[in-house]
Amino acid sequence: MISLVQPLIGAEEIQAVNEVLRSGMIAQGPRVAALEQAFADYCGTRYALAVSSGTAALHSALYAAGVGLGDEVITTPFSFIATINSILFLGAKPVLVDIDRQTFNMDVNRIEAAITPRTKAILAVDLYGQPADMSPLKKLAQDHNLVIIEDAAQAVGATYKGKKTGSLGDIGCFSLYATKNMMCGEGGLITTNNQDFASAIKRFRQHGMTGPYEYAGLGCNYRLTDLQAAIAVEQLKKVDTFTRSRQDHAELLNQGLQNLPGIITPHLAANRTHAYHQYTIRITKAAALSRQELSAALTKREIGNGVYYPKPLHAYRHIANFGYSIGDFPEAELVADEVLSLPVHPALTTEQVKYVISTIRNILE
Ligand SMILES: *Cc1c(COP(=O)(O)O)cnc(C)c1O
Repeated sequence: MISLVQPLIGAEEIQAVNEVLRSGMIAQGPRVAALEQAFADYCGTRYALAVSSGTAALHSALYAAGVGLGDEVITTPFSFIATINSILFLGAKPVLVDIDRQTFNMDVNRIEAAITPRTKAILAVDLYGQPADMSPLKKLAQDHNLVIIEDAAQAVGATYKGKKTGSLGDIGCFSLYATKNMMCGEGGLITTNNQDFASAIKRFRQHGMTGPYEYAGLGCNYRLTDLQAAIAVEQLKKVDTFTRSRQDHAELLNQGLQNLPGIITPHLAANRTHAYHQYTIRITKAAALSRQELSAALTKREIGNGVYYPKPLHAYRHIANFGYSIGDFPEAELVADEVLSLPVHPALTTEQVKYVISTIRNILE
C-alpha cells in the first residue's frame, strides 16, 4: 500500500522525547521556548508562540486581532472546517469570498466588494501549501485598516516573493497535527512581528493570566507540552529536506501526468514556492473516468488518495445559517467536485511516485 500521508519519525525525535520524560518536566517549559525561538528564526518573525493545535492558533490569533461579537472576517469557502469555526468561536461572522480555481485560494479580485464597516480581518488560507496572493491583500488591509491572518497550517516553509509563510501577514498560524508537513501529534504555532499581538496570545493561551492568580480577561488552556515541543524541534531541523522531497515528487507527477485529457495538475502562481502538503489534481468532465471511478481504481491498486475537501464550507448548516446557499460560490463548489489528492509525502521513493504515475496513465488511457 502506498499511503497518502505518513509522518517521518527518526531516532532524533525518539531520543528527544526520552530526554523530556527523564527530566520529569513535561508541561510547557524549556523545549517549548526552544521551539518558539527556532520557529521565529525559521519564519523570519520577531515572535513565535506555541499552542496546543492549529485550531487553537487560529482562535488565539483572531482573539489577539480584536475580533469579537458582530465583527466580520473575510475568508474562503474552500478550506478545512477549523478555518471558519475559529471565527465562530468569537461570535464573528465569516464573510466568504469565492476562490480562484487555478490556485484554490481566495480570488483577490473579489475581496474589496466584501469589505464593510464591520470587517475586522482577512483570514487567508495557503491551501495545499501554496501561499495566498498576499500583496493585493496587504494593500486592501492598509486601505481599510484590517488585520491579515494567514492560515498557513498546510504551508510551512513555502515562500511568496522570497518571504516565508508566517511572515506574510500580520499573524501566521500553523498546525503540528500528525499529518502536517512537520508535526508532533497535536500542536500549533503562531508567528507575528507585533508585540501587542504576541502579548495577547501569550495571555490567551494561559487563562488570560498576567501574574499569579491575576487574569486580564478571558483565556483558554491552549499550552503545548515539552514532550510535543521536543518532537517539533527535531522536525523543524528536517522540514526543508522534507519540503524539497515533496517538491521533487510534485515535479515528477507534473511531468508524468501531462497531456491526460481532463486531468489538470496543480498550478503554481508567480513569485511563489509550494510546500505541497497535498498534491491535488482536478478531474474534469473531459476525463475518461469520473473522480469517484479514478479514486476507486487507485484504492484497488493500493494507492492512497483523498478528497480535500468534498464539500465547500457553506454547504454545512452552521455556516449556511449566515445566509449562504449552494450557488453562491460556484468556483469552490466546482473544485469540491473535481479535486483528488495523490501521495507526495517525503517517505515515498522515486519508484513509488513513478508507479503512481504509470498506474494513473494505465487507468485513464
Ligand atoms: C490542519 C488545519 C487546521 C487545523 O489544525 P489542527 O492542528 O488540526 O487543529 C486549520 N486550517 C487548515 C487549513 C488545516 O489544514
